[in-house]
Amino acid sequence: STMLEVSGLTHQYGRGERAHVAVRDLTFTIEAGQLACIVGPSGCGKSTLLRCISGLIPATGGSVRLHGDEVSGVPDDLAVVFQDYSRSLFPWLTVAKNVEFPLRWQQVSKADRRRRAAEVLESVGLAGVGKKYPWQLSGGMQQRVSIARALVSRPALLLMDEPFASVDAQTRGELEDLTRRVQRDLGSTILLVTHDIDESVYLADRVLVLSKSPAAIVADLTIDLPAE
Ligand code: ADP
Ligand code: ADP
Repeated sequence: STMLEVSGLTHQYGRGERAHVAVRDLTFTIEAGQLACIVGPSGCGKSTLLRCISGLIPATGGSVRLHGDEVSGVPDDLAVVFQDYSRSLFPWLTVAKNVEFPLRWQQVSKADRRRRAAEVLESVGLAGVGKKYPWQLSGGMQQRVSIARALVSRPALLLMDEPFASVDAQTRGELEDLTRRVQRDLGSTILLVTHDIDESVYLADRVLVLSKSPAAIVADLTIDLPAE
């Protein structure tokens, strides 16, 4: 079934002489369970596109539908992982409290919050670090915490904006493997944005290639690997 439907999406920053069209008339759909990458050159509008899908900024044209419902505002069955993990975690909260945080806005008891945070930390390979603070962890581990926090509310769609761009090559490989495991084991639908075509082909089962700004979709590839 279709998870995400983007139709004629346009976003313009500013008005009048300062107007800048960052995304123009983009249309595509993502199927449930897919790990899709959007790849394109720096500045082509990828982050803007993700911000529109996540409801962080309003589209100035077109529409975004998440399993059939029009997105307006930030939907609660969608989660985002950003490149800059060091600014996205709360430094005054422990890792466990960071991961529990999104559940505070849902009707989840304290005991269940704790249990779910511990479970999801274990699933990203961070069992036992819940009592530490983010600054006590390596960059790669901090990004795992961000991924855990995104997953804790069991989002229908996980958006990732250049999630591996700030970590070293080895850590990147580990996080890529983690992302594929999340898709496979949790059945998550993931839309990941990157400027790295290599990464997109390695990771995804669908790759949408964007041209330079304002981007058009210049290729839509299905990566169909033989069974392992
Ligand atoms: P990408 O993520 O592909 O690098 P962005 O979505 O960040 O691209 O940016 C697309 C275009 O929009 C770029 O030309 C960028 O300079 C511009 N842009 C991004 N954010 C803003 C903003 N807040 N105000 C004005 N222009 C912006
Ligand atoms: P990325 O390529 O990772 O999307 P950018 O370097 O394009 O990041 O942008 C970094 C930040 O600066 C973003 O928050 C973006 O909104 C903002 N930004 C980018 N271009 C502009 C611009 N022309 N005017 C105002 N803000 C901008």
